[in-house]
Amino acid sequence: MRAAELISTGSELLDGKTVSTHATTLARHLRPLGIPLLRDTTVPDDSAAIHTAVLEASRRVDLVFVSGGLGPTCDDLTREVMLALLGGELVYDDTALERIRRFCERSGRAFTEGRKRQALVLSQAEVIPNGVGAVPGELILQEGICYILLPGPPNEFNHLLENGIMARLASLQGDVPTNHERLFQVSMAEGDLVEALAAVDVPSDGVSFSYCLSEQGVEVRLNGVDGARVEEVARQVREVLGRQIYAEGRTTLEEVVGGLLQAQGATLATAESCTGGLLGDRITGVPGSSAYYLGGMIAYANEVKLNLLNVERDLIEQYGAVSAEVAGRMAENVRRCFNATYGMGITGIAGPGGGTERKPVGLVFVAVAKAGEVRVQRYVFGRERQQIKMISAHKALVLLRDMLLGG
Ligand code: ATP
Ligand code: MG
Repeated sequence: MRAAELISTGSELLDGKTVSTHATTLARHLRPLGIPLLRDTTVPDDSAAIHTAVLEASRRVDLVFVSGGLGPTCDDLTREVMLALLGGELVYDDTALERIRRFCERSGRAFTEGRKRQALVLSQAEVIPNGVGAVPGELILQEGICYILLPGPPNEFNHLLENGIMARLASLQGDVPTNHERLFQVSMAEGDLVEALAAVDVPSDGVSFSYCLSEQGVEVRLNGVDGARVEEVARQVREVLGRQIYAEGRTTLEEVVGGLLQAQGATLATAESCTGGLLGDRITGVPGSSAYYLGGMIAYANEVKLNLLNVERDLIEQYGAVSAEVAGRMAENVRRCFNATYGMGITGIAGPGGGTERKPVGLVFVAVAKAGEVRVQRYVFGRERQQIKMISAHKALVLLRDMLLGG
């Protein structure tokens, strides 16, 4: 198979109720087989819309997935649409029918025609049994095109891909060249990153280059079947970005920082205002973090900054709670208070209210202190509240990593 498309059916995917997730799952599974997912078309529960979408996809690619609309209700139309498109007839799949009968028996439900309908499959289909639900998967090979029908609930969709569908596709696909992948986690703004990577010589064919942006920074991904070419580009990326790459592969920043703290026999304490514990949550998300993380304080109210963290009243009055001076003092004092090697402080305005012209929403100071040194960084993040909190915690970890590396 050369390429795939997905038709996601379901009115709920288009009316703001449900986030459509199948394309992401499917693309991840198809990648190792070297089959690109070229399009995800979402259509409502409407026969004509489903019909057109499937027909059009079958003219572009040789692998067409259709998800949803196979259930017992009147808005489940996929089965009849596929029958009209591909011919044949609808027959009961014995295994699926027996599964439904047993389910009805166990749960005291009536074994109705509606429920039985879920076991109807196209007569020419290869049926893939569903271990977690009523509706089986179907694979139909017709005129050089492979159609795969899968139920809509994400757990059933994923289960069928992992238990039957992918193995069957792999056998149809035969030997595929292995894909080589390199992942770099980078703590740089995307704009700066793109500029820096302009110096990297990427062969126009054979190596694909992609970026994925998140509150964790940017993930740079290289893919290709020629391992030597991928490695040559990876070498250049390492040379250009240097220490800005905080990890290769799927390692997180908090894991990297944890490793560095542990290697140095150092300990850490945190004082958080606007992030409300998010930093502590990320740090303690790493198994074994008790080896270096002593604890933290959520110093949200000024009284807590004053009375528990011992930030001087003068400092808050003179510079304000959201200031470089207070962030630095929070880091320093929490370090002392917990008797840690490193202390971290975060204070900012997450919004949406509380901003002024001089101190706008998104203004955040992150600080890291160790004996004899305090470093503070100022940011203004133009995002909404939750993102400001996430990115602040991330930037604080970036600063800690810099200090741990002695930069
Ligand atoms: P059912 O037997 O549950 O009716 P079905 O095969 O008919 O299964 P749908 O009715 O289309 O599937 O969807 C069932 C559930 O799965 C719904 O809750 C729907 O929101 C969810 N779902 C369907 N498609 C997707 C998708 N692309 N992404 C995420 N969720 C989905
Ligand atoms: Mg349904």
